[in-house]
Amino acid sequence: MTIKRSVFLRNITLGVSASLVLAACGGADTADTAEEATTDEAATTEETVGVLKVATEPAFPPFEFQNDDGELDGFDIDLMTAIGETAGLEVQFESLPFDGIIPALQAGTVDAAISGMTITEERLQTVDFSRPYIKAGLAIAVQADNAEVAGLDDLEDKKIAVQIGTTGADQAAEIPGAEISTFDSAPLALQELANGNVDAVINDAPVTLDAIASGNIDGLKVVGELLTTEFYGIAMPKDSENVEVVNDALMTMMEDGTYAEIYQKWFGEEPPELPESAF
Ligand code: GLN
Repeated sequence: MTIKRSVFLRNITLGVSASLVLAACGGADTADTAEEATTDEAATTEETVGVLKVATEPAFPPFEFQNDDGELDGFDIDLMTAIGETAGLEVQFESLPFDGIIPALQAGTVDAAISGMTITEERLQTVDFSRPYIKAGLAIAVQADNAEVAGLDDLEDKKIAVQIGTTGADQAAEIPGAEISTFDSAPLALQELANGNVDAVINDAPVTLDAIASGNIDGLKVVGELLTTEFYGIAMPKDSENVEVVNDALMTMMEDGTYAEIYQKWFGEEPPELPESAF
């Protein structure tokens, strides 16, 4: 995919007016100085501005994972790359543990994060999110021959594995008497269940279903209804100016078919309608 010329041009224009504003703020008091500052800014822009450092925890297929060539792959990776192309920004991915992503955004060491991350009220206290880009929800997984667990109520006093810092972990914490073990990634939690060390896993349904369907994890099934409806968003530092840039790109891609194409590639169907905001 190539950068759309109109978008690219618009960004250049925006870049130049931003430079003028910066020059003005910097106290440039003659027209000459302002002009010089603009030229300098423009020169810097080409090399340094326009890069978006994006964190991801790459053990969450089909959203993000390392493929057989050791490269980052998945729906989120394709989507974020296309957002970069649409917005005229170079995306540089950085792998981080899931529970290190929000701290990294707060510290400003990354500009954004795409990691199957649910937009929650709690996270909105510390970071901003793009508009929803995926509808998901939590599911219970048990061993395929388990006839005892059919839903949330059957999980009281049971052993449950979850991924640390996730909405699945929050949900498990509310189950009376449950003995919870936490893992760094969803596949590790699912493997613990496959090994028979816990009774269930609470995790995002698309990821658990993908692990079962792909044969990555053997002998598991999903039971009951989805426990929640959740929307994934791209997280950014609070009040980041990139929120609008990312939302504009997402909107463009939802209108011009790019989003649907990526969705088709990974999920084999038309994308569902998504709300403009999660709450
Ligand atoms: N959607 C879940 C959450 O946001 C899990 C995300 C993940 O493990 N990558 O907590």
